[in-house]
Amino acid sequence: MTQNYVSHLECSITGKKYEANQIHGLSDAGRPLLVRYNLEKLKKEVSRNDISNSKVNGLWRYAPLLPVADPKNRITLGEIVTPLIKLENSTKYNKNNKGEVLIKDEGRLPTGSFKARGLCLAVSMAKQFKLNHLAIPTNGNAGAAMAAYATKAGIRSTVFCPDDTPDINVREIQSLGGETFLVNGLINDCGKIVGEGKEKVGWFDISTLKEPYRIEGKKTMGLELAEQFNWELPDVIFYPTGGGTGLIGMWKAFAELKELGWIKGKLPRMIAVQADGCAPIVKAWSLGDEHAPVWENAYTKAAGIRVPVAVGDFLIIRAVRESKGFAISVSDEDIMEARDRVASTDGCFLCPEGAATIVAYEKSLLDGLISLDDKVVLFNCATGLKYPLPEVTNKINKNNYIDYNQFI
Ligand SMILES: *Cc1c(COP(=O)(O)O)cnc(C)c1O
Repeated sequence: MTQNYVSHLECSITGKKYEANQIHGLSDAGRPLLVRYNLEKLKKEVSRNDISNSKVNGLWRYAPLLPVADPKNRITLGEIVTPLIKLENSTKYNKNNKGEVLIKDEGRLPTGSFKARGLCLAVSMAKQFKLNHLAIPTNGNAGAAMAAYATKAGIRSTVFCPDDTPDINVREIQSLGGETFLVNGLINDCGKIVGEGKEKVGWFDISTLKEPYRIEGKKTMGLELAEQFNWELPDVIFYPTGGGTGLIGMWKAFAELKELGWIKGKLPRMIAVQADGCAPIVKAWSLGDEHAPVWENAYTKAAGIRVPVAVGDFLIIRAVRESKGFAISVSDEDIMEARDRVASTDGCFLCPEGAATIVAYEKSLLDGLISLDDKVVLFNCATGLKYPLPEVTNKINKNNYIDYNQFI
């Protein structure tokens, strides 16, 4: 097996160590396992410039900081380093100041969302461990990404979605080879089915944070940001938070980069953004709690952040606290207004979850929580094209007289 830098895995709550090169789910304490690396050794053998000079365009350029040892298990569907797009027209507040508002547009990844990152790694590790059947509960995007990478790897996949998951996502999953089932419940109900099926069917559970490698994939967002900002990070990151894999992953990336001595300066403030109709983390944060109980009757059009309970709740809250960030929720009405505004004035088509970060940014400015001089990154996690869009009502009858004055 080709050499890599993983030293061991570690329980995120007790610190108990687990051997690498073995199949793992949650820790004995029922909490996520984190992958640890021999960073001393890595530092001696790999430099920041080696990464910057890599010819690979996408997350595998960070392979030394990832757990997949053998290159033949590194599955790819053509990932890219996603672009940062400057918003110049659509937010009312960023003119004439030092600050910048940049969208990291994750909608350009395979299957149109940043779930591609986590599932690319999880499925690659499944391939490394020769697992032959994977199952996942999903609000849409994770299922599509898992189905795509599993199909590419020749691994069977079974996917459970709430029955009100956007139709386009459900059809996408099935088209990509995932055996797809609609469940009359929420994502945690789907998760229960996957959990119970582990013994009975023998599939491997790829649920958010219930295996150790999706975090490593999402970590690459933080590695990319560091490289894109020339190894100095932005001031504030707004992240639409469901299970929190991305926020936890980026914070882990920054810690590793800091230990390697590859980044300088202070770390960004991490802002967890949720919807008013499903804001367990925001509630726990405002109460000063480490854990967030199940949010009853969760509702939001931003399906990706409709996650009533997260196994990594304390990891999200810890990253927010350590980074001197905060958690904030926004309304669906404001989300949809922001999505349409950014699309029609900046030409950037956000998903509702991405639009939630715009609203959170503007609210935070008004509340004095951040400054106009801050360099801010907002995550657009998926392409806006996967969601229901406003109807077009203007019509022309080609056989009638056309009044061209209407176009002036
Ligand atoms: C999964 C998802 C999220 C939430 O990401 P986490 O890292 O699980 O918190 C946000 N938006 C979209 C579009 C998603 O698919």
